Amino acid sequence: MNDRFLEGRVALVTGATSGIGLAVAEALGAAGAVVHINGLGDAAQVRAALAAVRAAGAPEAVHHPADLRDPAAIRAMMAAAGPLDVLVNNAGIQHTAPLADMPEERWDALLAINLSACFHTMKAALPGMAARGFGRVVNIASVHGLVASLHKAPYVAAKHGLVGLSKVAALEMAGQGDRASGGVTVNCLCPGWVETPLIEPQIAARAGDGGREVGIRALLAEKQPSLRMALPAEIAALALWLCRREAHNLTGAAIPVDGGWTAQ
Ligand code: NAD
Repeated sequence: MNDRFLEGRVALVTGATSGIGLAVAEALGAAGAVVHINGLGDAAQVRAALAAVRAAGAPEAVHHPADLRDPAAIRAMMAAAGPLDVLVNNAGIQHTAPLADMPEERWDALLAINLSACFHTMKAALPGMAARGFGRVVNIASVHGLVASLHKAPYVAAKHGLVGLSKVAALEMAGQGDRASGGVTVNCLCPGWVETPLIEPQIAARAGDGGREVGIRALLAEKQPSLRMALPAEIAALALWLCRREAHNLTGAAIPVDGGWTAQ
């Protein structure tokens, strides 16, 4: 039996048609929240995501097709979703190339989706959370919000930016609500490698003739001492815990889930 501690709460998860976002949406639904999901995908992918969130236990699941590169579309999505108790900024893209070869349009898109969209959603959601004395913002950053890697200039810049943005929001919200209401917290999760479609091109780049398993082992060996990928549901479990009332004093943090990557 799930702990339905989010019954009566409303959540929105960006980029929830795939990977970590979908797992977070399912976890929030299993805890009883009405879940608004955003994310790209064809009709079948969106239907499957909504069905998964409902099957997990969400009393209601709604999809918003907003393209997060477009601030007006984000504002419309936030208005349509209405007051939120939980906001999970998860949508993200990746592009790897040396800085000198980085296509300018990829820089623009990456900064728009991985960073600016989080500003726009938080700007819309935080005042209501403050007024009600309860709110949880969980921003899915990355180890690349804490350290850099080669050939990821826009990704590292955006994720470092997201960690900074989240700290400012945490400070601005710190005095809202009280222990009984749960307060308003803003945190980042900073995963290392997580098994999702996002990293398949990086696995393929290392796979050579050895296949996918060789690619995965090579990725892990470079940086992640546990030599284990995380699963989306494991990231979701931590995001869900941050939504609990007793997590009211955990704010402004950037929490690594990286098998020791950033401990080195
Ligand atoms: P994924 O590719 O499986 O999912 C990305 C989601 O973002 C999809 O739902 C996609 O539709 C959505 N999205 C992309 N562009 C969009 C746009 N313009 N408008 C709206 N939605 C858009 O990736 P994932 O691995 O689950 O990544 C989720 C988050 O986790 C990202 O922010 C990523 O940077 C972060 N992350 C992933 C890993 C990893 O190893 N997979 C590690 C650290 C951090």
